[in-house]
Amino acid sequence: MDALDVETVRKDFPILERQVHGRPLVYLDSAATSQKPQAVLDAMDRYYEQSNANVHRGVHALAEEATEAYENARGKVARFIRADPRGVVFTKNATEAFNVLAYSLAANRLGDGDILLSTQMEHHANLVPWQLVQPRAGFEIRYIPVIALGPDAGTLDLDAFDEIVATGRVKLFTVTAMSNVVGTINPVADLAARVRAANSEAVVVVDGAQSVPHLPTDLLALEADFLCFSGHKMLGPTGIGVLAGKPELLDDMPPFLGGGEMIANVTLEGTTFNEVPYKFEAGTPPIAEAVGLGAAVDYLSALGMESVRAHEVALLEHVLPALNSVEGVTVHGPTDPSGRGAAVSFAVEGLHPHDIGTIMDREGVAVRAGHHCAKPLVRLLGSAATTRASFYVYNSVDEVQALIDAIEATKRFFVR
Ligand code: PMP
Repeated sequence: MDALDVETVRKDFPILERQVHGRPLVYLDSAATSQKPQAVLDAMDRYYEQSNANVHRGVHALAEEATEAYENARGKVARFIRADPRGVVFTKNATEAFNVLAYSLAANRLGDGDILLSTQMEHHANLVPWQLVQPRAGFEIRYIPVIALGPDAGTLDLDAFDEIVATGRVKLFTVTAMSNVVGTINPVADLAARVRAANSEAVVVVDGAQSVPHLPTDLLALEADFLCFSGHKMLGPTGIGVLAGKPELLDDMPPFLGGGEMIANVTLEGTTFNEVPYKFEAGTPPIAEAVGLGAAVDYLSALGMESVRAHEVALLEHVLPALNSVEGVTVHGPTDPSGRGAAVSFAVEGLHPHDIGTIMDREGVAVRAGHHCAKPLVRLLGSAATTRASFYVYNSVDEVQALIDAIEATKRFFVR
């Protein structure tokens, strides 16, 4: 495994050359959305300049090229996460992928007496869709608590998990592979195996929105039936996400949205549906975005996902002690880099996260302040908001120092 050469990587990202408030941009908000390398921008431009047409319908050369580009992107994504391409559905984002599963899977497969097991650590995208279908479907939603204090703070309460699973009633288990707030990496494969051992009919859904961009992903090894993620957090464009799953399960599910592309035949009396994955891709899909995501996958594969992870662990080895050494700063979540990703939430005694974010922005440092769309977890941390610095392939050790300097500057600003 090669370590990343950050200076070379940075040259691939044009936006990193710009200044903010007269200072070099220090972008520490990649958990919200990542920046895009030139290769992704070029691939999308090239597609529009050379091959733009609608997919799967035309017989002309451009239509064939566009279809090939779109389906190539599907193949690249499938290889990147080791999934069957027939089970790779392009959606608008991770959120839409969860909605497909809520309406087409949970609403039909679960009913009275069944438990949908989730966790207190989930992003709203992996909470709200299930809550929307629950009243109609009648299943019960239970949540694995997150440990708030002590050495295991920010991890799932596995005793509570075992107790719920032992009922044998868990029919759908959904969990994030990596928390977007506290960075926790969950032992997904182990949890999935335990759920399946207690109920062989259980389906396992994994939120990969934070893990797929940062960790090597192997859908088979995860023991998951479905994996949801977004292109824009992994160097790709906005407007495209992925629902990856077992083709036979997708086959059994009714469509989510109806319209063109997803049909086999339509009469005025009724419709038969296309095969998967097309059954779940109603209407003209995000073609240029798929091409961009394919280029992002190529870029990440060339870096090597093991190297991406090693780079982020190396950054964590700097950032965690550095933050802990600032007086008044508390870092949330796992303390050992091996158990966490590089989304790092922290509190500064006496200061509101929004004030911290605003003053840090004046120093050129972009961090996120708020509830990070995970209100139940942030509430558990004892606050309505946290400040979050999140790192990616283009962040350097110098930027860790810039973060620390900006926190110190913020503290000075408020005690003036
Ligand atoms: N899950 C997690 C863990 C996330 O961090 C996010 C994005 N913040 C999502 C789901 C939803 O992603 P999107 O907004 O792209 O649909």
